[in-house]
Order: sequence, then C-alpha cells, then structure tokens
Amino acid sequence: MNVESFNLDHTLVAAPFIRVADRKVLPHGDVLVKYDVRFCQPNQAHLEMPVVHSLEHTMAENFRNHADFIVDFSPMGCQTGFYLITVGDHEQAEIEQLVADTLADVLAATEVPAANEVQCGWGVSHTLEGAQAAAREMLAHRDQWSQVMA
Ligand code: ZN
Repeated sequence: MNVESFNLDHTLVAAPFIRVADRKVLPHGDVLVKYDVRFCQPNQAHLEMPVVHSLEHTMAENFRNHADFIVDFSPMGCQTGFYLITVGDHEQAEIEQLVADTLADVLAATEVPAANEVQCGWGVSHTLEGAQAAAREMLAHRDQWSQVMA
C-alpha cells in the first residue's frame, strides 16, 4: 500500500518504540525523515484525545527548544502515538535523547502551551495531568524504544 504504516504488521510490534517510518530525499538533496513515536501497544491500549492533544501541544512547542531540525510533530488518528518529521538524517540515539528531553519538559510543564481559543481549534480539550502521566509512562520504558518488533 502507499502508506508506509499500512505495510507494518501492528500485531508484531512491541510499544513503546521509536522507528523510522519514511525517508525522502528532496530534489536538491535535502532529506526529510519521519519517525513513528509509538506510546501505546496497537489495538491493546491508546491515549485519550485530550491526552493526545496536550502531548501534541507541549511536545511540538518544546522540541523546538532542543533542535532546529523539527518540521512537524503530529498525532496518529489511532491515538497510539505521533509522527515526528525532521530535516536531515540523525542517529537513533540522538532522536531518542531529543524525545526524552522533550518528555521531561512535559513533566516540568505547569500549563499546556497555546491551550486557548485564539491559538487552538479546541482549546478546552486538554489535560496536562494526563499528558504528564503518559510522558512518565513513556520515559519509564526508554530502554525499549529502539526495539520495534516483539
Ligand atoms: Zn490544539
């Protein structure tokens, strides 16, 4: 199928993990890399939408304090993880450290950035506590992030 993740057998993976889902070389040689940052075991667990939303806001904002190569951080519709898109190739360890640092920012946050009607499309659909619980759980399994398949 056209979509890379549609060719991934979701019954064989072991979340949490971080894996390269796509890599594109642009016409002038620049590289875009798309990472699958998976928080929950597919079809067994998921994040509630306000948790997804608050992780999206808080991580999207804080990633950019650590790195200048972030293009996008967006949730998966299945609510089990996110896609992180970067400019250029990076070592798995560098990406894992970046995610860990950004999850630490979530734990340290006192509010969800841009959770209001001016800056967001559903400003009341947020939970900092939920995002922090998910961040804590993800960080607790950091030693498993580089292993994708069970
Ligand atoms: Zn929003």
